[in-house]
Amino acid sequence: MFGLRPAFPGGIRLPVLERRDDAAVVRQLPFAPRLFLPLRQHPGAAAVAVVRAGEEVLRGQLLARADDETAVPLHAPATGRIVGISEQPDRGLTTVSVIELAPLPGDTQEDPGRPVRDPTAAGPEALLAAIGDSGLVGLGGEAGPTALRLARARARGVRVLVVNGIEGEPGFTRIPALLARHGDDVLTGLRCLLRVLEADQAVLAVEEADGAAAGALLARARQDTRPALQILPPRYPQGAAELLLRRLARSGSDGGRALAADPAVVFSLATVAEVGRLLSGGLTLTDQLITLAGDGLGDPGNYRVPLGTPVRFALEQAGVLADLDRVLAGGPMRGQALADLDRPIVKGATGFVAVAADGSARVPEPMACIRCGECVAACPLNLHPAELGLLARREEVQAMVEDYQLERCFECGCCAYVCPSHIPLVQIFRAAKDQWRRAQAAAVAQERT
Ligand code: SF4
Ligand code: SF4
Repeated sequence: MFGLRPAFPGGIRLPVLERRDDAAVVRQLPFAPRLFLPLRQHPGAAAVAVVRAGEEVLRGQLLARADDETAVPLHAPATGRIVGISEQPDRGLTTVSVIELAPLPGDTQEDPGRPVRDPTAAGPEALLAAIGDSGLVGLGGEAGPTALRLARARARGVRVLVVNGIEGEPGFTRIPALLARHGDDVLTGLRCLLRVLEADQAVLAVEEADGAAAGALLARARQDTRPALQILPPRYPQGAAELLLRRLARSGSDGGRALAADPAVVFSLATVAEVGRLLSGGLTLTDQLITLAGDGLGDPGNYRVPLGTPVRFALEQAGVLADLDRVLAGGPMRGQALADLDRPIVKGATGFVAVAADGSARVPEPMACIRCGECVAACPLNLHPAELGLLARREEVQAMVEDYQLERCFECGCCAYVCPSHIPLVQIFRAAKDQWRRAQAAAVAQERT
């Protein structure tokens, strides 16, 4: 523990939500009748399909290979039959090829894997290749290829591994589940990542609610790879990697001093646990841990869900109410309302929030900006959300980008949360960024013609 000197401006203290008794429980979601697997599930190159319609595949089998370092291979989440491969809309900007897979009814769906006794016995290069082959992406909200991030961290001589055990969204409960149910995977993953990075220092950061569970887990860690534990008072959005590094570096603790002196890289606790789980079992990424939350669910909690499961099916398994106001992909602060519940759950998803139509979380009508400055005080990046909002109303997107650093905004939602006029600032900024990227892409295309 350390002093409370703030290391970044703004941020907010969210109301502390009482944790459900089953916060550390993980339930397995059954297979949906159809799974839908986009060949590109993150910003980066698409994978290349190696299967055809009508082919039968085994769970864990390669469906699409990665021909580019920014792509990740895709594996079958279930034993079944490839129904087809079709082009479908991808975030409204472009299209993407999607493999449709029908799980085989009655199959045990066991993934035999390739048992590996101790993955850390392998050398750094072999471990890095195994992580790449597993199809793993960041599971803490940023879904970039894990192998690529590791390779880049190695290339810049990173010495300190920071494990981010801070829940990214209020109401999500993946951290207690990972600490309680995947402790061995976390410790194995930690050793694997330290070996790949050839680093000798690690820090595990958690908030107070998870401090005791993290302490109990680290007591079981091997002395030579035991991370320093940093327990932070709650403050949103300190789980963002850049802010977390700043906060830890200024902590005055042992781990903080290491961070101030040596280059560091941040991996989420979920990613570290998955490295351990996949490499010790010789497995590929075919399912992942998410939280299904919100007052629109009768049975919210943590679920292990096969990739490609339609959101609607997952919510039905969690007892969704008939009358929903909206469903957010992600949590209440950073989540985006889903227009189509038949979209599949893809790699890197952290959870979904179902908001009941008659619940208390309905969105109030926005009013005019009263120039109170609350949003400016809340922004952890020192941006000027009020001015950005006014420019957006005047459709001056270029000024938003060039004069007010729109693209630095990581859509944490602090400004919108504190705004007394209920102006949906994050949605406004998201739309402006989309508009800007489309304009840039059109300009590049025109230059080429
Ligand atoms: S959403 Fe963007 S502008 Fe608003 S507080 Fe977060 S970083 Fe700042
Ligand atoms: S918090 Fe809302 S009302 Fe206040 S300055 Fe910002 S945008 Fe305007």
